Amino acid sequence: MIENINSESYECCIIGAGPAGLGAAYELVKNGVTDILIIDKNKRVGGLARTDILGETRFDIGPHRFFTKNKEIDKIWHDTLGSNFQPVSRLTRIYYKNKYFNYPIKPANVLMNLGPVDSLNATLSFFSSQISKKNTPITFEDWIIQKFGHKLYETFFKVYTEKVWGIPCNRIGAEWAIQRIKGLDALEVLKNALFKDRKKKIKTLVEEFDFPVLGVGQMYEAMCDKLVSQGAELMIESKVFRFNRHDNVIESIDVLRADGKEIKINAKQFFSSVPLAHYFGMLNPAESGLILDSAGMLKYRAHITVGLLIGRSEVFPDQWIYVHSPDVQIARIANYKNFSKAMVKDENTTTLSVEYFVFTYDNLWSETDKFLSDMAINELEKMHLVERREVINTWVVREAEAYPIYYLGFPDHYDVLKSRIDQFVNFYSIGRAGMHKYNNQDHSLISGILAARNYLKLPGFPFRLWDINVDAEYQENAQRTHE
Ligand SMILES: Cc1cc2nc3c(=O)[nH]c(=O)nc-3n(C[C@H](O)[C@H](O)[C@H](O)COP(=O)(O)OP(=O)(O)OC[C@H]3O[C@@H](n4cnc5c(N)ncnc54)[C@H](O)[C@@H]3O)c2cc1C
Repeated sequence: MIENINSESYECCIIGAGPAGLGAAYELVKNGVTDILIIDKNKRVGGLARTDILGETRFDIGPHRFFTKNKEIDKIWHDTLGSNFQPVSRLTRIYYKNKYFNYPIKPANVLMNLGPVDSLNATLSFFSSQISKKNTPITFEDWIIQKFGHKLYETFFKVYTEKVWGIPCNRIGAEWAIQRIKGLDALEVLKNALFKDRKKKIKTLVEEFDFPVLGVGQMYEAMCDKLVSQGAELMIESKVFRFNRHDNVIESIDVLRADGKEIKINAKQFFSSVPLAHYFGMLNPAESGLILDSAGMLKYRAHITVGLLIGRSEVFPDQWIYVHSPDVQIARIANYKNFSKAMVKDENTTTLSVEYFVFTYDNLWSETDKFLSDMAINELEKMHLVERREVINTWVVREAEAYPIYYLGFPDHYDVLKSRIDQFVNFYSIGRAGMHKYNNQDHSLISGILAARNYLKLPGFPFRLWDINVDAEYQENAQRTHE
């Protein structure tokens, strides 16, 4: 994509070419606003939903699946890629104690894999949790135990959740479970397996999701190309480091470009996917102590992807495997060939990604690429999935603010920041890190689209953006526990 900066003043400046930023641009262009600049610090667009090309191999930042209940978003995705957006039959499993459990959970498979003693324990602990059910759950742990019992909680929720979030389940707020897995409990899983009519059952069993043939990022590359062809401008490898304000009006931003030059961009309206906590730290003049203290209380979980090119045509049949075993640090393994054969150049090879979740203060975050690749290979060997001699090449990608964390007590600080954001008259904070929300692609796209509609003052707007993805009803239930 060619950069084409004609002017330093725009009607709208969008920071972040992820789903949220591109959603805002899409809606603005659709409504005739094309005096737009989209800025991103990365080389490739798509944000966390991008596809990196390493060597000649395509890797996503962890496995991404397209699913939405929102018809408008579904249509945007299909219109953007047409026949390059293809259905994939889902196979995903949980690896626990050297066994593979179907995920979403299937009761017969659970009972068979757990064996008679653990199955009996699971059943007893479920009934005991139902008898002793009390009080509104405060923590994630309370919530899951109330719904599933202690044994199933330990087998299917505790280890993976703690690997991903880095905090004990009894310090994660129940609101996270309510947002992600609302409506799910053990009886629901059982009912689904036993009593659904045959038609519905078959539909559930043949689970599908859509996926771009060249990886998740193809969607946003295509969307961005179209926006540029319609008049929007794109500036990549450029990092916004300062927001210049007069009272509650953002007058300009300062940007460090890849060539080392600093430039100032003026705009009437700003849409920003910069992580909420960082935004407050970038304001000039600086914010009050209270705001900066609250911003300092927002926490993010960082994510490391180790991509591996393997010299074997088949490694495992799943799109991804959740690794619940505590004896390896790997949280999940994806096999991109099982999303789309076109993601692998040579059919005798396979591309895998291994994911680690860390805090940026953990030693693992600062380890060298070599160390991380070695660790990934060792752990894959331990799981009997890959042998070292089969590994042709490896790459490492780090994302510092991949997962906004909902810990107990965080809403007090969050509320302070939300109220402060609402005071800015020409600024919308959008998307996953921008709104500090555990969004999937659809909710991030929606946040950008709705922010644009607010700006455009379309009939029925403004919409309160903070309400996105709060009370969403998820039909896929259990599938949402594990992103
Ligand atoms: C491992 C993993 C697996 C996932 N799996 C799924 C899935 O299966 N299905 C699904 O729907 N969703 C999934 N998601 C979530 C999905 O990736 C996000 O919801 C989506 O990408 C968020 O879009 P966004 O635009 O809000 O933010 P981002 O994708 O984070 O984009 C923000 C953009 O802003 C840019 N930016 C930030 N700060 C600056 C700055 N100072 N200057 C310039 N640019 C800046 C960043 O470079 C980035 O490109 C997954 C996420 C992860 C991490």
